[in-house]
Amino acid sequence: MKEPVTAYVALGANLGDPRAAVLAALDRLQALPQTRLAARSSLYRTAPVGAAGPDFVNAVAALRTSLSAPDLLAALQRLEAEAGRERPFANAPRTLDLDLLLYGQARIASPRLVVPHPRMHERAFVLVPLAEIAPALVAPQALAALTSQVIARIP
Ligand code: ADP
Ligand code: MG
Repeated sequence: MKEPVTAYVALGANLGDPRAAVLAALDRLQALPQTRLAARSSLYRTAPVGAAGPDFVNAVAALRTSLSAPDLLAALQRLEAEAGRERPFANAPRTLDLDLLLYGQARIASPRLVVPHPRMHERAFVLVPLAEIAPALVAPQALAALTSQVIARIP
């Protein structure tokens, strides 16, 4: 079997009960084949970036997985679909968004999958929870550049 890799997944939701959706998604990630949930951040509340709609609940999970990167992306998209995700337009409010941030040291640029995720360093809702569980992966300057984005840890 393939050696497990540490992958980081960003979770976000801003429709329905977003907190419940993110918590349920963490359970679903833990239940994926050949995968275990190695760490999860706190939940955070953030205002939408480049989008309209209600506030988001966001989190980041660290997975240890033997799934390939394309198989992991397919699994994430299946979980989004099962959560009722629709894509009426770009940046539309969503019941669940699961983005693959990092897959070990891999650099991937295929039409369907780009890793590291190209916009992760612009987004406090990704970097703040990522820094909570993997501080070595987030440069302090990157966090400092995003202090204008309001993000609140949910106690
Ligand atoms: P966004 O997350 O940018 O709001 P979507 O969730 O609708 O938008 O994803 C759009 C497309 O991005 C997906 O069809 C997927 O193939 C592609 N994609 C490319 N790289 C990644 C990645 N690292 N994680 C998740 N999706 C990705
Ligand atoms: Mg996405």
